[in-house]
Amino acid sequence: MPNRRSFLKSALGAAFLAEGPQALRAYPQAQSHLGKVKITAVKTASVMIKYPAHLVKIETDSGVYGIGEAYNRHGILDHIRGLEDLLLGEDPLQVDYLAVKMAEAQLGHGSWTGSLAGAIGGIETALWDLAGKILGVPVYMLLGGRFRDKIMIYHDTGSPKTPDPAAWVAEAEKSLDYGFVATKFDMDWEGRGMTMAGQPYRYRQELWNRAITTVEMEQWRNILVAVRKRLGEHYPLGIDLHFNYNYADALKFSYMVEDLNLWFIEDPIPPQNADAMARFTQECKVPTCTGENLYTRHSFRPFIEKQAADIIQPDPQKSGGLLETKRIADWADQYYITFACHNMCTPVGTVANAHVCASIRSFVALESDSVELEHWDDLILREKPFYRDGYYVLDDKPGLGIELNEEVCRRHLAEGSTYFGS
Ligand SMILES: [Mg+2]
Repeated sequence: MPNRRSFLKSALGAAFLAEGPQALRAYPQAQSHLGKVKITAVKTASVMIKYPAHLVKIETDSGVYGIGEAYNRHGILDHIRGLEDLLLGEDPLQVDYLAVKMAEAQLGHGSWTGSLAGAIGGIETALWDLAGKILGVPVYMLLGGRFRDKIMIYHDTGSPKTPDPAAWVAEAEKSLDYGFVATKFDMDWEGRGMTMAGQPYRYRQELWNRAITTVEMEQWRNILVAVRKRLGEHYPLGIDLHFNYNYADALKFSYMVEDLNLWFIEDPIPPQNADAMARFTQECKVPTCTGENLYTRHSFRPFIEKQAADIIQPDPQKSGGLLETKRIADWADQYYITFACHNMCTPVGTVANAHVCASIRSFVALESDSVELEHWDDLILREKPFYRDGYYVLDDKPGLGIELNEEVCRRHLAEGSTYFGS
Protein backbone atom coordinates (compact mmCIF):
# COMPACT_ATOMS: atom_id res chain seq x y z
CA MET A 1 0.00 0.00 0.00
CA PRO A 2 1.44 3.41 -0.87
CA ASN A 3 1.54 5.79 2.08
CA ARG A 4 -0.06 9.27 1.88
CA ARG A 5 3.21 11.02 1.03
CA SER A 6 4.08 8.70 -1.86
CA PHE A 7 0.47 8.85 -3.12
CA LEU A 8 0.53 12.67 -3.17
CA LYS A 9 3.93 12.64 -4.82
CA SER A 10 2.77 10.36 -7.62
CA ALA A 11 -0.52 12.27 -8.02
CA LEU A 12 1.35 15.57 -8.30
CA GLY A 13 3.79 14.04 -10.75
CA ALA A 14 0.94 12.80 -12.92
CA ALA A 15 -0.71 16.23 -12.83
CA PHE A 16 2.47 18.01 -13.89
CA LEU A 17 3.15 15.49 -16.63
CA ALA A 18 -0.37 16.13 -17.92
CA GLU A 19 0.26 19.91 -17.87
CA GLY A 20 3.48 19.64 -19.80
CA PRO A 21 7.09 20.64 -19.35
CA GLN A 22 6.38 24.24 -18.18
CA ALA A 23 4.71 22.97 -15.00
CA LEU A 24 7.53 20.50 -14.45
CA ARG A 25 9.99 23.37 -14.51
CA ALA A 26 7.88 25.63 -12.25
CA TYR A 27 7.39 23.08 -9.47
CA PRO A 28 11.00 22.53 -8.46
CA GLN A 29 11.67 26.29 -8.77
CA ALA A 30 8.82 27.12 -6.37
CA GLN A 31 9.94 24.35 -4.02
CA SER A 32 13.43 25.74 -3.98
CA HIS A 33 12.19 29.17 -2.85
CA LEU A 34 9.53 28.37 -0.28
CA GLY A 35 10.74 28.90 3.28
CA LYS A 36 14.29 29.64 2.19
CA VAL A 37 14.33 33.41 2.66
CA LYS A 38 13.66 35.03 6.03
CA ILE A 39 12.81 38.64 6.86
CA THR A 40 15.52 40.26 8.99
CA ALA A 41 14.48 43.93 9.24
CA VAL A 42 11.81 46.47 8.30
CA LYS A 43 13.18 49.99 7.79
CA THR A 44 11.81 53.33 6.62
CA ALA A 45 12.96 56.50 4.89
CA SER A 46 10.69 59.55 4.59
CA VAL A 47 11.29 61.73 1.55
CA MET A 48 9.65 65.06 0.81
CA ILE A 49 7.29 65.47 -2.10
CA LYS A 50 4.35 67.79 -1.38
CA TYR A 51 4.34 66.05 2.01
CA PRO A 52 6.61 63.53 3.75
CA ALA A 53 6.22 60.22 1.86
CA HIS A 54 7.11 57.12 3.86
CA LEU A 55 9.14 54.50 1.97
CA VAL A 56 9.43 50.99 3.44
CA LYS A 57 12.36 48.60 2.95
CA ILE A 58 12.13 44.94 3.99
CA GLU A 59 15.51 43.25 4.28
CA THR A 60 16.17 39.50 4.27
CA ASP A 61 18.92 37.04 5.12
CA SER A 62 19.48 36.41 1.40
CA GLY A 63 20.41 40.02 0.67
CA VAL A 64 17.33 40.53 -1.53
CA TYR A 65 15.13 43.38 -0.31
CA GLY A 66 11.73 44.80 -1.13
CA ILE A 67 10.63 48.44 -1.40
CA GLY A 68 7.14 49.81 -0.79
CA GLU A 69 5.40 53.04 0.09
CA ALA A 70 3.03 53.56 3.00
CA TYR A 71 0.36 56.24 3.28
CA ASN A 72 1.77 59.70 3.90
CA ARG A 73 0.17 60.87 7.12
CA HIS A 74 0.95 60.99 10.83
CA GLY A 75 1.51 57.92 12.95
CA ILE A 76 2.50 55.66 10.07
CA LEU A 77 6.16 55.29 11.08
CA ASP A 78 5.25 54.36 14.66
CA HIS A 79 2.90 51.68 13.36
CA ILE A 80 5.55 50.25 11.01
CA ARG A 81 8.02 50.03 13.90
CA GLY A 82 5.34 48.32 15.98
CA LEU A 83 4.62 45.77 13.25
CA GLU A 84 8.25 44.78 12.58
CA ASP A 85 8.40 42.07 15.27
CA LEU A 86 5.50 40.25 13.58
CA LEU A 87 7.53 39.92 10.39
CA LEU A 88 11.02 38.98 11.62
CA GLY A 89 11.95 35.42 10.65
CA GLU A 90 8.90 35.07 8.38
CA ASP A 91 8.92 33.92 4.74
CA PRO A 92 8.27 37.03 2.56
CA LEU A 93 6.49 34.91 -0.07
CA GLN A 94 3.59 34.57 2.40
CA VAL A 95 2.28 38.01 1.50
CA ASP A 96 -1.43 37.70 2.22
CA TYR A 97 -0.81 35.61 5.33
CA LEU A 98 1.52 38.29 6.70
CA ALA A 99 -0.94 41.11 5.89
CA VAL A 100 -3.69 39.24 7.76
CA LYS A 101 -1.30 38.45 10.61
CA MET A 102 -0.45 42.14 11.03
CA ALA A 103 -4.11 43.19 10.94
CA GLU A 104 -5.22 40.47 13.37
CA ALA A 105 -2.47 41.35 15.83
CA GLN A 106 -3.82 44.90 15.96
CA LEU A 107 -7.51 43.93 16.10
CA GLY A 108 -8.10 45.94 19.25
CA HIS A 109 -6.32 49.02 17.92
CA GLY A 110 -8.00 49.79 14.62
CA SER A 111 -6.55 46.97 12.51
CA TRP A 112 -7.17 47.68 8.84
CA THR A 113 -8.30 51.28 9.36
CA GLY A 114 -6.61 54.65 9.66
CA SER A 115 -2.85 54.86 10.04
CA LEU A 116 -2.57 51.13 10.75
CA ALA A 117 -4.04 50.36 7.32
CA GLY A 118 -1.60 52.86 5.82
CA ALA A 119 1.33 51.12 7.52
CA ILE A 120 0.18 47.60 6.57
CA GLY A 121 -0.36 48.75 2.98
CA GLY A 122 3.25 49.96 2.73
CA ILE A 123 4.66 46.75 4.18
CA GLU A 124 2.43 44.62 1.95
CA THR A 125 3.69 46.46 -1.13
CA ALA A 126 7.33 45.88 -0.10
CA LEU A 127 6.51 42.18 0.39
CA TRP A 128 5.14 41.97 -3.17
CA ASP A 129 8.31 43.61 -4.51
CA LEU A 130 10.37 41.12 -2.53
CA ALA A 131 8.29 38.12 -3.64
CA GLY A 132 8.58 39.20 -7.27
CA LYS A 133 12.35 39.53 -6.97
CA ILE A 134 12.68 36.11 -5.30
CA LEU A 135 10.51 34.40 -7.92
CA GLY A 136 11.85 36.43 -10.85
CA VAL A 137 8.47 37.80 -12.02
CA PRO A 138 6.80 41.25 -12.04
CA VAL A 139 4.32 42.00 -9.25
CA TYR A 140 1.40 42.14 -11.71
CA MET A 141 2.05 38.47 -12.54
CA LEU A 142 1.71 37.59 -8.85
CA LEU A 143 -1.62 39.45 -8.79
CA GLY A 144 -3.01 37.30 -11.60
CA GLY A 145 -1.38 38.72 -14.71
CA ARG A 146 -1.98 41.92 -16.62
CA PHE A 147 -4.88 43.14 -18.72
CA ARG A 148 -2.74 45.94 -20.17
CA ASP A 149 0.85 47.12 -20.17
CA LYS A 150 0.07 50.84 -20.57
CA ILE A 151 -1.60 52.49 -17.59
CA MET A 152 -3.57 55.65 -18.33
CA ILE A 153 -2.60 58.44 -15.95
CA TYR A 154 -4.76 61.41 -15.13
CA HIS A 155 -3.35 64.68 -13.89
CA ASP A 156 -4.60 65.96 -10.54
CA THR A 157 -4.07 69.66 -11.10
CA GLY A 158 -5.18 71.08 -7.79
CA SER A 159 -6.75 74.46 -8.38
CA PRO A 160 -5.51 78.03 -9.03
CA LYS A 161 -7.65 79.34 -6.12
CA THR A 162 -9.34 82.09 -8.12
CA PRO A 163 -12.71 82.39 -9.88
CA ASP A 164 -10.94 83.68 -13.01
CA PRO A 165 -11.49 81.03 -15.74
CA ALA A 166 -8.30 82.13 -17.54
CA ALA A 167 -6.17 80.88 -14.63
CA TRP A 168 -7.88 77.48 -14.80
CA VAL A 169 -7.42 77.29 -18.57
CA ALA A 170 -3.70 77.98 -17.99
CA GLU A 171 -3.66 75.11 -15.52
CA ALA A 172 -5.35 72.85 -18.08
CA GLU A 173 -2.65 73.81 -20.58
CA LYS A 174 -0.01 72.60 -18.11
CA SER A 175 -1.75 69.21 -18.17
CA LEU A 176 -1.52 69.19 -21.96
CA ASP A 177 2.13 70.30 -21.84
CA TYR A 178 2.96 67.39 -19.52
CA GLY A 179 1.33 65.11 -22.13
CA PHE A 180 -1.56 63.99 -19.97
CA VAL A 181 -4.61 62.65 -21.76
CA ALA A 182 -7.00 63.08 -18.81
CA THR A 183 -7.26 65.66 -16.02
CA LYS A 184 -9.05 66.37 -12.75
CA PHE A 185 -9.68 69.74 -11.12
CA ASP A 186 -10.40 70.47 -7.46
CA MET A 187 -13.40 72.80 -7.63
CA ASP A 188 -13.67 73.48 -3.91
CA TRP A 189 -10.87 76.00 -3.92
CA GLU A 190 -12.49 78.18 -1.28
CA GLY A 191 -12.87 75.35 1.20
CA ARG A 192 -13.07 75.05 4.95
CA GLY A 193 -9.32 74.52 5.13
CA MET A 194 -8.73 78.09 3.95
CA THR A 195 -10.91 79.57 6.64
CA MET A 196 -9.57 77.34 9.36
CA ALA A 197 -6.08 78.51 8.35
CA GLY A 198 -7.19 82.11 8.96
CA GLN A 199 -7.84 83.12 5.35
CA PRO A 200 -11.25 84.80 4.86
CA TYR A 201 -13.52 83.44 2.13
CA ARG A 202 -15.54 85.64 -0.17
CA TYR A 203 -18.19 83.48 -1.73
CA ARG A 204 -19.24 80.94 0.84
CA GLN A 205 -22.07 81.62 3.27
CA GLU A 206 -20.51 80.06 6.34
CA LEU A 207 -18.04 77.46 7.52
CA TRP A 208 -19.94 74.41 8.70
CA ASN A 209 -23.27 73.84 6.93
CA ARG A 210 -21.74 72.37 3.75
CA ALA A 211 -23.57 74.88 1.56
CA ILE A 212 -22.49 75.85 -1.95
CA THR A 213 -23.70 79.36 -2.74
CA THR A 214 -25.25 80.03 -6.13
CA VAL A 215 -22.40 82.52 -6.68
CA GLU A 216 -19.91 79.67 -6.31
CA MET A 217 -21.97 77.41 -8.56
CA GLU A 218 -21.95 80.04 -11.31
CA GLN A 219 -18.19 80.58 -10.90
CA TRP A 220 -17.50 76.85 -11.08
CA ARG A 221 -19.68 76.43 -14.14
CA ASN A 222 -17.95 79.35 -15.90
CA ILE A 223 -14.57 77.81 -15.08
CA LEU A 224 -15.58 74.39 -16.39
CA VAL A 225 -17.12 75.84 -19.58
CA ALA A 226 -13.81 77.59 -20.33
CA VAL A 227 -11.70 74.53 -19.48
CA ARG A 228 -13.94 72.23 -21.53
CA LYS A 229 -13.61 74.60 -24.50
CA ARG A 230 -9.81 74.53 -24.24
CA LEU A 231 -9.49 70.77 -23.74
CA GLY A 232 -12.06 69.85 -26.37
CA GLU A 233 -15.35 68.03 -26.23
CA HIS A 234 -14.04 64.52 -25.63
CA TYR A 235 -11.03 65.02 -23.31
CA PRO A 236 -11.65 63.18 -19.99
CA LEU A 237 -12.24 65.99 -17.44
CA GLY A 238 -13.14 65.07 -13.86
CA ILE A 239 -13.87 67.26 -10.86
CA ASP A 240 -13.33 66.68 -7.12
CA LEU A 241 -15.49 68.25 -4.39
CA HIS A 242 -13.59 66.62 -1.49
CA PHE A 243 -16.60 65.49 0.59
CA ASN A 244 -17.35 69.12 1.46
CA TYR A 245 -20.97 69.70 0.49
CA ASN A 246 -24.57 68.92 1.39
CA TYR A 247 -26.73 66.66 -0.70
CA ALA A 248 -29.08 69.24 -2.22
CA ASP A 249 -26.43 71.80 -3.17
CA ALA A 250 -24.02 69.25 -4.63
CA LEU A 251 -26.84 67.73 -6.68
CA LYS A 252 -28.03 71.16 -7.85
CA PHE A 253 -24.51 71.97 -9.00
CA SER A 254 -24.23 68.64 -10.82
CA TYR A 255 -27.39 69.52 -12.78
CA MET A 256 -25.81 72.84 -13.76
CA VAL A 257 -22.83 71.09 -15.39
CA GLU A 258 -24.45 67.98 -16.83
CA ASP A 259 -24.14 69.37 -20.38
CA LEU A 260 -20.32 69.55 -20.12
CA ASN A 261 -19.64 65.84 -20.61
CA LEU A 262 -17.73 65.59 -17.31
CA TRP A 263 -15.81 62.37 -16.78
CA PHE A 264 -16.84 62.12 -13.13
CA ILE A 265 -17.76 64.11 -10.04
CA GLU A 266 -15.69 62.87 -7.09
CA ASP A 267 -16.84 62.91 -3.46
CA PRO A 268 -19.66 65.44 -3.88
CA ILE A 269 -20.89 64.66 -0.34
CA PRO A 270 -19.12 63.22 2.73
CA PRO A 271 -18.23 59.52 2.33
CA GLN A 272 -19.58 58.10 5.57
CA ASN A 273 -23.15 57.35 4.42
CA ALA A 274 -23.44 54.81 1.61
CA ASP A 275 -27.24 55.27 1.41
CA ALA A 276 -26.89 59.00 0.81
CA MET A 277 -24.19 58.41 -1.80
CA ALA A 278 -26.33 55.74 -3.50
CA ARG A 279 -29.26 58.17 -3.71
CA PHE A 280 -26.94 60.86 -5.08
CA THR A 281 -25.55 58.47 -7.71
CA GLN A 282 -29.06 57.55 -8.83
CA GLU A 283 -30.12 61.16 -9.25
CA CYS A 284 -26.92 62.67 -10.62
CA LYS A 285 -26.45 62.63 -14.40
CA VAL A 286 -22.67 62.91 -14.09
CA PRO A 287 -20.86 59.64 -13.17
CA THR A 288 -19.92 59.64 -9.48
CA CYS A 289 -16.68 58.52 -7.89
CA THR A 290 -15.68 57.78 -4.28
CA GLY A 291 -13.36 55.63 -2.19
CA GLU A 292 -10.18 57.44 -1.18
CA ASN A 293 -11.30 57.63 2.45
CA LEU A 294 -12.50 54.04 2.76
CA TYR A 295 -10.53 51.12 4.18
CA THR A 296 -10.54 47.46 3.09
CA ARG A 297 -13.41 45.41 1.71
CA HIS A 298 -15.35 46.03 4.88
CA SER A 299 -15.66 49.79 4.38
CA PHE A 300 -16.28 49.39 0.66
CA ARG A 301 -18.95 46.69 1.11
CA PRO A 302 -22.02 48.95 1.50
CA PHE A 303 -20.83 51.30 -1.25
CA ILE A 304 -20.45 48.41 -3.68
CA GLU A 305 -23.57 46.48 -2.68
CA LYS A 306 -25.73 49.62 -2.77
CA GLN A 307 -24.05 50.69 -6.04
CA ALA A 308 -23.27 54.02 -4.39
CA ALA A 309 -20.77 55.15 -7.04
CA ASP A 310 -20.21 54.65 -10.75
CA ILE A 311 -16.44 54.56 -10.23
CA ILE A 312 -14.83 53.09 -7.12
CA GLN A 313 -11.55 54.73 -6.19
CA PRO A 314 -9.49 53.00 -3.48
CA ASP A 315 -6.12 54.36 -2.45
CA PRO A 316 -3.93 51.21 -2.25
CA GLN A 317 -1.64 52.79 0.36
CA LYS A 318 -4.68 53.50 2.54
CA SER A 319 -7.09 50.71 1.76
CA GLY A 320 -4.85 47.85 2.91
CA GLY A 321 -2.44 47.20 0.05
CA LEU A 322 -2.29 45.95 -3.52
CA LEU A 323 -4.15 42.65 -3.13
CA GLU A 324 -6.90 44.26 -1.05
CA THR A 325 -7.32 46.91 -3.76
CA LYS A 326 -7.70 44.21 -6.40
CA ARG A 327 -10.28 42.43 -4.26
CA ILE A 328 -12.29 45.65 -3.87
CA ALA A 329 -12.14 46.42 -7.58
CA ASP A 330 -13.08 42.89 -8.65
CA TRP A 331 -15.98 42.88 -6.21
CA ALA A 332 -17.23 46.22 -7.62
CA ASP A 333 -16.90 44.80 -11.13
CA GLN A 334 -19.70 42.38 -10.34
CA TYR A 335 -21.93 45.47 -10.46
CA TYR A 336 -20.07 46.79 -13.53
CA ILE A 337 -18.69 49.60 -11.39
CA THR A 338 -15.33 50.67 -12.81
CA PHE A 339 -12.11 51.25 -10.88
CA ALA A 340 -9.93 54.36 -10.74
CA CYS A 341 -6.85 54.42 -8.51
CA HIS A 342 -6.32 57.22 -6.01
CA ASN A 343 -2.62 58.01 -5.77
CA MET A 344 -0.57 60.62 -3.87
CA CYS A 345 2.73 58.73 -3.98
CA THR A 346 6.33 59.07 -5.01
CA PRO A 347 7.25 56.99 -8.08
CA VAL A 348 7.62 53.99 -5.73
CA GLY A 349 3.95 53.86 -4.74
CA THR A 350 2.91 55.04 -8.18
CA VAL A 351 4.67 52.11 -9.87
CA ALA A 352 3.24 49.71 -7.27
CA ASN A 353 -0.22 51.09 -8.02
CA ALA A 354 0.43 50.72 -11.76
CA HIS A 355 1.10 47.00 -11.20
CA VAL A 356 -2.24 46.49 -9.44
CA CYS A 357 -4.02 48.65 -12.06
CA ALA A 358 -2.60 46.36 -14.76
CA SER A 359 -4.08 43.33 -13.00
CA ILE A 360 -7.63 44.71 -12.66
CA ARG A 361 -10.03 44.22 -15.53
CA SER A 362 -12.24 47.24 -14.78
CA PHE A 363 -9.37 49.75 -14.45
CA VAL A 364 -10.00 53.21 -15.91
CA ALA A 365 -7.23 55.56 -14.78
CA LEU A 366 -4.45 56.09 -12.22
CA GLU A 367 -4.01 59.47 -10.53
CA SER A 368 -0.81 61.48 -10.75
CA ASP A 369 0.25 63.79 -7.95
CA SER A 370 3.35 65.95 -7.29
CA VAL A 371 4.56 65.53 -10.87
CA GLU A 372 5.27 69.25 -11.05
CA LEU A 373 8.07 68.83 -8.48
CA GLU A 374 11.43 68.78 -10.26
CA HIS A 375 12.85 65.91 -8.19
CA TRP A 376 9.71 63.73 -8.12
CA ASP A 377 10.64 61.28 -10.88
CA ASP A 378 14.34 61.42 -9.94
CA LEU A 379 13.61 59.59 -6.68
CA ILE A 380 14.02 56.34 -8.63
CA LEU A 381 16.57 55.34 -11.24
CA ARG A 382 14.63 55.25 -14.44
CA GLU A 383 14.64 56.45 -17.99
CA LYS A 384 12.92 59.78 -18.44
CA PRO A 385 10.21 60.73 -18.97
CA PHE A 386 8.45 58.77 -16.24
CA TYR A 387 5.12 59.08 -18.07
CA ARG A 388 5.04 58.72 -21.83
CA ASP A 389 2.24 60.47 -23.71
CA GLY A 390 -0.03 60.29 -20.67
CA TYR A 391 0.66 56.65 -19.84
CA TYR A 392 2.93 54.70 -17.52
CA VAL A 393 4.42 51.76 -19.42
CA LEU A 394 5.09 48.62 -17.38
CA ASP A 395 8.06 46.39 -18.06
CA ASP A 396 8.76 42.76 -17.19
CA LYS A 397 11.47 43.26 -14.56
CA PRO A 398 11.08 41.25 -11.33
CA GLY A 399 9.10 42.77 -8.46
CA LEU A 400 8.14 46.40 -8.98
CA GLY A 401 11.08 46.72 -11.37
CA ILE A 402 12.49 49.88 -9.79
CA GLU A 403 15.54 50.98 -7.82
CA LEU A 404 15.72 54.03 -5.59
CA ASN A 405 18.05 56.87 -6.50
CA GLU A 406 19.83 57.01 -3.17
CA GLU A 407 21.53 60.34 -3.77
CA VAL A 408 18.27 62.14 -4.67
CA CYS A 409 16.36 60.43 -1.85
CA ARG A 410 19.02 61.46 0.66
CA ARG A 411 18.90 65.05 -0.62
CA HIS A 412 15.15 65.18 -0.05
CA LEU A 413 14.87 63.32 3.25
CA ALA A 414 12.12 64.67 5.49
CA GLU A 415 13.22 66.37 8.70
CA GLY A 416 14.28 63.80 11.28
CA SER A 417 14.40 60.90 8.81
CA THR A 418 17.39 58.74 7.89
CA TYR A 419 17.90 56.72 4.72
CA PHE A 420 16.61 53.34 5.98
CA GLY A 421 18.74 53.72 9.09
CA SER A 422 16.19 52.00 11.29
MG1 LIG B 1 -10.25 63.20 -4.09
